[in-house]
Amino acid sequence: MATDALKNVRIRIERAAQKLGSKIVPDWMLEELVEPEERFSISINVKIPNPLNPLEKIPKKFKAVRVWHRKPDPADIWKGGLRYHPDVTLSDMEAHAIEMSFKSWIMQLPHGGAKGGIAINPYEWSKDTLEDVTLQFAKRAIKRGIMSPRIDVMAPDVGSTKIIMDWLRDYYIDYTGDNIIGDGVVTGKSVGKGGILGRESATGLGMHMALQTFCEAGEICLPKKKTAIVQGFGNVGSNFCKLAGEYNISVIGITDQFGGVYCPTGLDIDKLINFASANKYKTINGSEVISPTYMKASFDELIAAGADMFVPAAMEETITTSVAPKMNFKVVLEGANGPTLADADNILIQRGIQVIPDIYANSGGVTVSYFEWARNTRKFHTNPGILIPDNDETSVKTALQVMFKKNGNALIKVAKKYKIPYREAGYALAIERVAPDIKARNRMD
Ligand code: NAD
Repeated sequence: MATDALKNVRIRIERAAQKLGSKIVPDWMLEELVEPEERFSISINVKIPNPLNPLEKIPKKFKAVRVWHRKPDPADIWKGGLRYHPDVTLSDMEAHAIEMSFKSWIMQLPHGGAKGGIAINPYEWSKDTLEDVTLQFAKRAIKRGIMSPRIDVMAPDVGSTKIIMDWLRDYYIDYTGDNIIGDGVVTGKSVGKGGILGRESATGLGMHMALQTFCEAGEICLPKKKTAIVQGFGNVGSNFCKLAGEYNISVIGITDQFGGVYCPTGLDIDKLINFASANKYKTINGSEVISPTYMKASFDELIAAGADMFVPAAMEETITTSVAPKMNFKVVLEGANGPTLADADNILIQRGIQVIPDIYANSGGVTVSYFEWARNTRKFHTNPGILIPDNDETSVKTALQVMFKKNGNALIKVAKKYKIPYREAGYALAIERVAPDIKARNRMD
């Protein structure tokens, strides 16, 4: 469970603000940037089958939270994932809502960051209970004015899926009768429900585009054929691995919540996806049975074995001050949100390990989600600098590529201007971009 997520993100904003100076970021603005605007706690009551007598139903409560950070313009929406995980806490969701704002601002998306979650382990409950919990959450979130295509648009995150987004969308349209822009209440939906092609793989794909942008700009030098070790094999990790071959990357090690697998000559990703989808917890633990060349490996063993890059794509706070000194990699490409502790940043820098930070590297998901929402709500004019693609995979991929290249190069420029690491540069770029709007909104110069 994360403990320092909020502290980490605040340290990073403060470091970037210090570099930009108080003329760009006055104290009152810094105070706003490190603090969410709204926090919601929702209690969900459902009835579940009594484990002692399945014919009988007994009451059960689940807790949910939602956080809104800051939106530079009143016309913006709040945007961010809805997590299904037993360790969901208000403090972690505050940190992630703040990160979502910065991610959106780097990509020039007209969003205020949001994040939320339901404290539930989705793998431990039946589909009926999950649906019930989701609908009870939606009912309360709509009543409290949280969930709406005009206000707060949720998307899949850890433990939540396309099917959950479909349930939320159906319920919202049934409840409100909004059959005009109701599809836009969530993103990451099925295509038949208003979803966009390529959303499911967008975060993993965007990570490849982020790395490519840094390599093409001469910032990162890796061999033509690269190796990677990946932590997490859910939506982000598995899609990154699936596309790795196209980007000349051989995935040689994967680890998840339950165990890991290693093969120095490269893992067969399709076989691992089949293995994981066939078990209840969607884990690759035990997948060494696939080939005699595969070995069971722990996280510590994989970190020590090393590769060209490490790709954290699981939970926050993986790279701690005790992990960072043992890492045998040239690059960290952050798929997860907040995988590196602020104190560990310094160790990676001292060791010459370059980090492509989460707030840029994993922004493919929110970017394609924005395309989806803009199509659903016909809000094509919100930012004339962004081309909203047609609903086909090639157009979506082309539009995403444009966004990664343009904004990645802007981030590199800021890093060079202030002579700061890429993470700090990401925060600084985001602030530079929204500071004029925030000042205008507060009627301050
Ligand atoms: P997911 O639920 O689909 O997969 C999570 C994976 O992490 C699973 O393989 C799980 O076994 C593994 N995991 C969980 N706890 C772990 C632990 N303690 N140690 C090692 N592995 C562990 O989630 P996801 O959607 O792939 O999200 C992964 C990360 O990426 C999260 O930080 C999320 O916030 C971030 N993210 C997701 C998206 C998206 O579009 N889904 C977009 C941007 C960022």
